[in-house]
Amino acid sequence: MKLPLLAWAVTRVGVAAALSALSCLPVAAQGVDYSKLDIKTTDLGRGVYLLGWQGGDSLILVGDDGVLLIDTSVAAMGDKINAAIAKVSTKPIKVIINTHAHADHFGANAALAKGGAAIVAHDTLRERMAKGFTAFNQAIPPSAPAALPTVTYADAMTLHFGGETVQLFHPPNAHTDSDTLVHFKRANVIHASGTIGGAGGYPFFDMGSGGSLAGTIVAEDKMLSLADDRTRIVADEGDPASTETLKASRDMLVTLRARVKKLIDEGKTEDEVVATKPTRDFDARWVHPGNFVTGDTMTRLAYESLKGVTPATTPRR
Ligand SMILES: [Zn+2]
Repeated sequence: MKLPLLAWAVTRVGVAAALSALSCLPVAAQGVDYSKLDIKTTDLGRGVYLLGWQGGDSLILVGDDGVLLIDTSVAAMGDKINAAIAKVSTKPIKVIINTHAHADHFGANAALAKGGAAIVAHDTLRERMAKGFTAFNQAIPPSAPAALPTVTYADAMTLHFGGETVQLFHPPNAHTDSDTLVHFKRANVIHASGTIGGAGGYPFFDMGSGGSLAGTIVAEDKMLSLADDRTRIVADEGDPASTETLKASRDMLVTLRARVKKLIDEGKTEDEVVATKPTRDFDARWVHPGNFVTGDTMTRLAYESLKGVTPATTPRR
């Protein structure tokens, strides 16, 4: 799967962009060789470690009796994730949490749950995995029974694991319609399930998977309600974001929404809205080389979300 397909998917929502990396899209679809990806392990304290590579990063929580793992990337990364965990703990994986229905967040479920781990996810994620779905115009076949979540929830859930309180929250229609925000209370770490931008860039909401601008703002507000000034917020890639970055992202989205809504109310077309450059004062902070979400892209995503434009890919339900 090469870039033209991704370019098609992105263009379909009216977005033409220079593409080199898209968080949440399996890196194979970006022409990246998984065998060459190295996992960088970062100790976030209190038993929590970030396993980072290029998109779809994982978190682990190491307890006395076992390991809790957030997200399992694609199948080809299973052995590397196992090896990275083994450097930190020899205990078995007891719990896996899948944050959302993008293929690079649950692909190695079966292999990593083989030792008997429970797999926890939002109700909608299990539904999608069981039936198969489409995201980024990529057809994801039904998952094998061994890969399916064994514990699902609707709105919120709390796990008690290794002395940590792990709170799960579902923000509706945010990055996707199956997101789980994960809050490690003691470690003061939140996994954002793609609702903040990777590596400090603009956030991306996948309207083809039920995501939306409004829902992303609600998700960021929820995380702000959980955070203090020392919280680390984990995106799909890059170093964890600070609460200040999260707050700035939320404020940027709220301002952009108001600007684009005003232009829509004035009767402007999508191209006319883009031409006014409503992100002009935001781009210096939120556009990075390698991040496909440019200011114009962000404007189009905001416009289309506010207008309820038919998304690029309609997931099979
Ligand atoms: Zn994603």
